[in-house]
Amino acid sequence: MLGRAENRFASPLKRLKKVLEIGIGQSKIFREPAAGLMHALIFWGFLVLITAVTEAIIQGFYSNFSLGMFGGISKIFFISQDVFGLLVILSVIYALFRRYVLHPKRLQGDGSTNADATFILCMIMGVMLTMFGVNAVKTAIHPDYATYYSAHFISSKLSVLFKGNEITFYNIFWWAHISIVLLFMNYLPYSKHFHIVTSLPNVYLSKLGPQTLDTEEIDFEKENVFLGSGDIEQLTWKEIFDGYACTECGRCTASCPANLTGKPLSPRKIIMNIRERTSEKAPLMAANKNIPEEIEQKKLVSEYYITDDELWACTTCMACVKECPVNIEHVNPIVDMRRFLVQSESRFPDELMTVFGNMENNGAPWAYPQSDRLKWTENLDITVPVASEKNNFDVLYWVGCAGAFDARYQNVSRSVAQLLDKAKVNYAVLGTEEKCNGDSARRLGNEFLAQTLIKENVETMKKYNFKKILVSCPHCMQTIGNEYKAFGGDYEVVHHSEFISELVNEKKIEIEETKKIDTKITYHDSCYLGRYNNIYEEPRDLLKQVNNGDIIEMERSKDKGLCCGAGGGRMWMEEKIGKKINIERTEEALRTNADVISTACPFCMTMMTDGVKEKGRSEDVKVKDFAELILESSK
Ligand code: SF4
Ligand code: SF4
Repeated sequence: MLGRAENRFASPLKRLKKVLEIGIGQSKIFREPAAGLMHALIFWGFLVLITAVTEAIIQGFYSNFSLGMFGGISKIFFISQDVFGLLVILSVIYALFRRYVLHPKRLQGDGSTNADATFILCMIMGVMLTMFGVNAVKTAIHPDYATYYSAHFISSKLSVLFKGNEITFYNIFWWAHISIVLLFMNYLPYSKHFHIVTSLPNVYLSKLGPQTLDTEEIDFEKENVFLGSGDIEQLTWKEIFDGYACTECGRCTASCPANLTGKPLSPRKIIMNIRERTSEKAPLMAANKNIPEEIEQKKLVSEYYITDDELWACTTCMACVKECPVNIEHVNPIVDMRRFLVQSESRFPDELMTVFGNMENNGAPWAYPQSDRLKWTENLDITVPVASEKNNFDVLYWVGCAGAFDARYQNVSRSVAQLLDKAKVNYAVLGTEEKCNGDSARRLGNEFLAQTLIKENVETMKKYNFKKILVSCPHCMQTIGNEYKAFGGDYEVVHHSEFISELVNEKKIEIEETKKIDTKITYHDSCYLGRYNNIYEEPRDLLKQVNNGDIIEMERSKDKGLCCGAGGGRMWMEEKIGKKINIERTEEALRTNADVISTACPFCMTMMTDGVKEKGRSEDVKVKDFAELILESSK
């Protein structure tokens, strides 16, 4: 309640569907099959065994009560209690074995304590064993329901162990069962297992639709505009709630490219720090007490909790969000905290000063003048139509800063233009009217600069009538397609992989059999095309159409793909800590023994090309955008 406002209640049916799929169905948990099955069995077991706990609690007040009163239907409860009771016991044994013998890396560090997990696992085991004990001897208490109790096909076999002393053992098991259950429930709020209470609501309240950055309340025309989150009261209530839903499973950190390459960033730690700081400060705020100076000074973004280096290491690749079984959204608070560093504290890496200056003065991260935006069209033997000179066109080809200025990526823009020309698409480019889409500025925390660029672009596009926007850069796709809406720009945006795929399928672009390549290709998924916009198959399908050889997947591909290291504005920053992410990814690509690394994003193209060069493999391994491959193979 102390956080900033945010609406997470619209579309309740869609939210319920998500709870059924991700919460009850445990779909994300199964992204790791063995650990997933173990967790899912414990979770489903809990749901089923609520019947046994409820029966035991009611019996505490009314000793004659039994589920057997429901007649034949009670047999379903009793059979399921035995089946799931056994499965939960086996799962707990596996969980302890995994934690203490297999030692998965993701369960270590960041304060995730073995003691807490072990205590909880032992309590779960205790609840199960005492339930079997109660069920084994309960016929002695309720002989009338003996026919139904026979459905306890496991516990009924155990009754011989207690022959002659059934009533005494019933009392022992019942008290032990109820005591462990009550201890468990009282311990929960002090444990990471509080997620048993918070995870389903957290899934319900998680973002629907595309993962966009939160812009509510960021209106620079207003007084007291939100300038970023330096402490918990500047986070949204949902960002705070995430802290209490975290299971500390470490799946996020295990998939984080920054963490995997030795940077100080751990998305799990970010979320745990939010919870710790809330627990420290919020009770004082809620009670309207004066906050002691020493607590006030320990802000969330400080050496005590989250450091600048952690925040700047994030590539906003969304791997953490994709992996999180309870749909925690790490990227929003990270960007909110970067906003605090940039807009409130003016504290950011030196190299960003130049980048922000270029964006402000030239409308691009590079120091090229706006007037050079059409230079990539020179030496083409086709004419690239410009919007200001063409009144009617269907498709606006948004070239992007890399497509206009980056010497290597200009060739991709030229390839796309030639393919559009071949397919006789009625298109135009904005040319010198186009400006940086604002993605990097936003993710780097400079929201004011981002909004300036976004608003200028929306105004420019308002001048023209077109049906859709075609982009080559997934970052342009995400920002223009999903984030311009908040600024009055509602557009259908397609990436060139989808668009060219359609043209090929409609035979508007024909592949020449004799021009097809015959080589080994691996495809590097762009985070902003894949995890952000769910485009995985189109580029692969296109590659299959132009290549007679193999398309080899890397170890981490599709929604598990490793970032190239350039997202979130990292493209413009030096990487001084740990191993370079692009080298980690390039090594993975080279392990496939592919001759071509295909990409679909200008940032990925740069990072992979640099990686191949640094590994001394530029001669035998080429990095290509698939638009170039299609053009080379087309009639
Ligand atoms: S978005 Fe990517 S880089 Fe950032 S914390 Fe999540 S996994 Fe790590
Ligand atoms: S944020 Fe999600 S993935 Fe990360 S530790 Fe918490 S529950 Fe696990």
